[in-house]
Amino acid sequence: MKMTPAMTMAQENMQPGVITEEGFLGDETIPVVDMIARDEGEMRDAGLSFVDTAKRLAYFMEEGQKGLGEPVTIDDKWLIRVVDPRGQLPCPFKDGFFHKMTAQITRKETNESVVVTDLSIHLLREHHFIEGKGSRFRLEPQVMKRVLFD
Ligand SMILES: [Zn+2]
Repeated sequence: MKMTPAMTMAQENMQPGVITEEGFLGDETIPVVDMIARDEGEMRDAGLSFVDTAKRLAYFMEEGQKGLGEPVTIDDKWLIRVVDPRGQLPCPFKDGFFHKMTAQITRKETNESVVVTDLSIHLLREHHFIEGKGSRFRLEPQVMKRVLFD
């Protein structure tokens, strides 16, 4: 797929050391438009919609914040830990700033986790970008399906 100037700019901002130390691309070197197209397919295969998944992640983030730094249990099934190092990060697509806040959402019965930030929820919802394979903050569709939903 062809890269637009906006996509080329975003991909440059996703490199290590530009917005974050590790960047957003993980081990991947393919164009970001191709990552997005592939991951739209992976989301579909997992039976997940971007809108509902973003809402679910935002819900856990919001509930987790109520713990004020302590872990929060939801419905006896999930353990949420929110860490707020303060400060903000810009979206690589340059359409806003987001709190650095991180939530670790753990499914208690399997001990499997999803780690999410305000920015990664925005990237998923608005840009269908779930970070590259190998990135610590990649929102792997099959993992989200197992951890977030019943
Ligand atoms: Zn954005």
